[in-house]
Amino acid sequence: MSLDEDGETNKISLIMELRKQGIRANDVLSAIERIPRDEFISTSFKAKAYDNHPLPIECGQTISQPFVVAYMTEQLRVGDRMKVLEIGTGSGYQSAILSLLCRRVYTIERYRTLMRDAVNRLEGIRIHNVTAMVGDGAKGWPEQAPFDRIIVTAAAGAIPLNLLEQLKVGGIMVVPVDNPQRRGEQKLLRLTRTDTGFEQEDLLDVRFVPLVEGVAREG
Ligand code: SAH
Repeated sequence: MSLDEDGETNKISLIMELRKQGIRANDVLSAIERIPRDEFISTSFKAKAYDNHPLPIECGQTISQPFVVAYMTEQLRVGDRMKVLEIGTGSGYQSAILSLLCRRVYTIERYRTLMRDAVNRLEGIRIHNVTAMVGDGAKGWPEQAPFDRIIVTAAAGAIPLNLLEQLKVGGIMVVPVDNPQRRGEQKLLRLTRTDTGFEQEDLLDVRFVPLVEGVAREG
């Protein structure tokens, strides 16, 4: 079997596993089927590209587990006319998945290297509706606000209220927030902005790299 065929077989087993784990949204599963995760991973880990695991990327960061990407995307309930903000571009994989489901993705990364690599990969697979910038995602992207959806792919210490303000009323944010009872673990929350504040739903226990203040000095 050629490498490509191997990749396809692994991808199909991954989709089957995600279905078994409860992912139901066909648009999300088909986005995962269409985006080559191996393109977002360095050479030494390519053989594991379709394993259902997080993997290391540059700058000591990680590309999330496919299940977590699928789950968060499903819980975000993205529509094709929507403007979505992502905090924590990392490899660019989550941006690529979102780009197939909405009108435009805005994504913020604090490491210049990661942002550059992500942009190159997205261009390489002909994705043109992602706008990326280097910045402190905790501040959001006020010039482009309000957003229909916000996804935070790094662990916040508390509910990021200033990001909520950049959400439309009725808009949804999915964000991992530190669990004070369990060090290093977060509760994944879905927050829906209302006229007067927000509603909160607790989803899953997750582990993300932390949301770090400010732009990285190196990398
Ligand atoms: N969505 C990514 C997962 C990235 S891991 C993917 O699909 O690969 C989380 C990322 O958040 C890391 O790259 C980290 O550098 C970035 N990050 C952490 N704090 C940040 C901040 N304040 N602003 C922007 N990016 C941040």
